Amino acid sequence: MAASAQLGKLKVYISVDMEGVAGVVTADQLGPASFEYAKFREFMTRETLSAVQAAKQAGATEILVADSHGNMENLLIDMFPPDVRLIRGSPRRLSMMAGIDRTFDAVIFIGYHASTNNLQGVRAHTFSSARLTRVALNGAVVTEGAFNAAVAGHFGVPVVMISGDDAAVAEVRSLVGNIEGFETKKTLGFHSANSLTPEASIAGIAQKVKAALARRGDFKPYAVKAPVTLDISFKNYMPAEVLAYLKIVQRVDSHSIRYVGQDMVDVSDFVDFISSYNLALEP
Ligand SMILES: [Zn+2]
Repeated sequence: MAASAQLGKLKVYISVDMEGVAGVVTADQLGPASFEYAKFREFMTRETLSAVQAAKQAGATEILVADSHGNMENLLIDMFPPDVRLIRGSPRRLSMMAGIDRTFDAVIFIGYHASTNNLQGVRAHTFSSARLTRVALNGAVVTEGAFNAAVAGHFGVPVVMISGDDAAVAEVRSLVGNIEGFETKKTLGFHSANSLTPEASIAGIAQKVKAALARRGDFKPYAVKAPVTLDISFKNYMPAEVLAYLKIVQRVDSHSIRYVGQDMVDVSDFVDFISSYNLALEP
């Protein structure tokens, strides 16, 4: 703690999803219309607060939290201390990493899940379980965690810790490196898990956040080589057909397109565009 304080500023970015929160197994916990949502947004908030408090104990001088699940309005903002800022709502540029820049020192992922290409993982998907079947950067399939780590890497910021189910932690580590990981539950299937209680999860997250920030010099930014080739496969046929009208888009096969961006910001903008745009957007 003293060592961190002596180094001066320690700016921490925390991106929070919900599928990897302890106890989450189905859509019953994940959206405003679901019967357990109110309870589980509180658990999501408490896991995040645990990371916030642990980061402060490890010397964090500034913390930015990005509410990054669903409508991005899940975290109970009034439960946070006054010296923390929160990013809420969507669409927004850089999405789950909105607000990240070169001034940050470390990134933490809370409540993350595995990719849609993983054989395991509770609610395993990549950006859209309903629409996308594969997302790859420079030929390598990525999770949201690895994609977001590459966005942070663009700004020279390393990811130091992830919490989520066992599949999510293992999959991100396989790409990003041996960051600290906390398993909130063991995957039994897409809609089932053997889970810790919220109390146990909160304690474990705090421990791993402290461990990660104590040795943050060990972690390197996850840099993908530029220009960055983004491959996306859609569940349906038409998105690939219509996107290929654009000269910047190449149709790779019936359900897949390729876009080459100068860097991860370009690629992130492209993903956010195809995820957000429809002609009926209002206002
Ligand atoms: Zn989510």
